[in-house]
Amino acid sequence: MYPKASYVCPGFGNDPAHLAYDVDGVQADHRKPVAVHWNETGRMTTQHQRETWDTEYTNLVAMCPYHNRKKGSESNEYEHQTGPGFEGPL
Ligand SMILES: [Zn+2]
Repeated sequence: MYPKASYVCPGFGNDPAHLAYDVDGVQADHRKPVAVHWNETGRMTTQHQRETWDTEYTNLVAMCPYHNRKKGSESNEYEHQTGPGFEGPL
């Protein structure tokens, strides 16, 4: 059993999963990085579709602030051009 107000951060890179505490911060991390989603489909969708994806719980995992910062965008570059079907704002 885990203590109250704790969660398992999946870690990142060579850092293994670990027990983390809410008081130290908890952030929602996108399993599929936002930059990858943007490049694949997001840049060709409406704002509403992007917001729906952004809050889809099956793509979110609790992560400690340290590992979320370390993960960042995983070196994925954003495609700067929008595609057909894009509806702003940018
Ligand atoms: Zn962590």
